[in-house]
Amino acid sequence: QTGKNKLITYQPTPTPTRHLFASQIQMETDLRKAIMENQLLLYYQPRLELSTGQIICLEALVRWNHPTYGMIAPADFIPLAEESGLILPLGEWVLREACLQKARWLAENKLDYQVAVNISPCQFQDEAFADKAIHIIEQTGINPAYLEFEITESSIMQNMEKTIAVLDKLCAKGISISIDDFGIGYSSLNYLKEFPIHCLKIDRSFVKNIQSNSNDWAITNAIIHLGHALNIQVVAEGVEEVGQLDILKETTCTTIQGYLLSPPISAAEIELTFHREDNRPVMIS
Ligand code: C2E
Ligand code: MG
Ligand code: MG
Ligand code: MG
Repeated sequence: QTGKNKLITYQPTPTPTRHLFASQIQMETDLRKAIMENQLLLYYQPRLELSTGQIICLEALVRWNHPTYGMIAPADFIPLAEESGLILPLGEWVLREACLQKARWLAENKLDYQVAVNISPCQFQDEAFADKAIHIIEQTGINPAYLEFEITESSIMQNMEKTIAVLDKLCAKGISISIDDFGIGYSSLNYLKEFPIHCLKIDRSFVKNIQSNSNDWAITNAIIHLGHALNIQVVAEGVEEVGQLDILKETTCTTIQGYLLSPPISAAEIELTFHREDNRPVMIS
């Protein structure tokens, strides 16, 4: 097997964690600097449509390339960013960079996929969120239809009235909305009928043991059929093994993300592996 048709076995590299920093204040100072001095970068993880074998979306996932400590994973600095308020400038940086990258790909006629951007509940609660986001997108000149915002159930549930106003504003511009980590939040299924939701991303904790745990299988299966009935796309997250993929296909899952297809990789690696002229179906099993 060669090129993108090969199975990628991915070993996450050990990442430095908070304890490398002398103090929380130091880390916060460094992070503020990182946002201003372009030490952040985006990796992208593809989402695959099983029926066609085509990539349909790339999820942007932020990394911090610290001058001393090297590459830091988001789990190690997003919580601090949220506590300190730095998530607002960080989130704006992420959205702008994702739009600029999409614009570059369009200009080079390279990749035709949607780009998904994660939105923290702290950002979503910001009064000016929708206007700021739309402004950034307009500044970069890309069609908002290329964008998907991944939000969590906790973002939605805090203030339903405000949420619907924000989501309507984003949808009116053509931005798609997906629910990330679906199934582990404070779920009320009510919002699925009230809000313009395009996609549910089944949390990978359900997918992990789908082969061995009948409850995980049942929940995953139910979410997939809920999606079909409501005409909402459903993505299984964290698919690592062919055995998991086989079961997901049996349960009529339509789209997947996970290390089995690809871990998050740099924009340059995405271009090499998933460029458009080479849009042969991706075979992963
Ligand atoms: P998420 O949005 O649910 O993203 C999926 C995470 O699962 C990513 O971790 C991805 O690398 C990992 N993953 C994907 N496939 C597999 C798999 O097959 N197996 C396993 N074990 N893991 C898999 P990552 O990039 O470390 O991001 C972690 C979380 O950090 C994200 O979870 C998201 O909540 C947050 N995050 C990342 N980038 C951003 C960002 O730009 N803004 C905000 N607000 N949050 C972000
Ligand atoms: Mg996500
Ligand atoms: Mg997720
Ligand atoms: Mg998550």
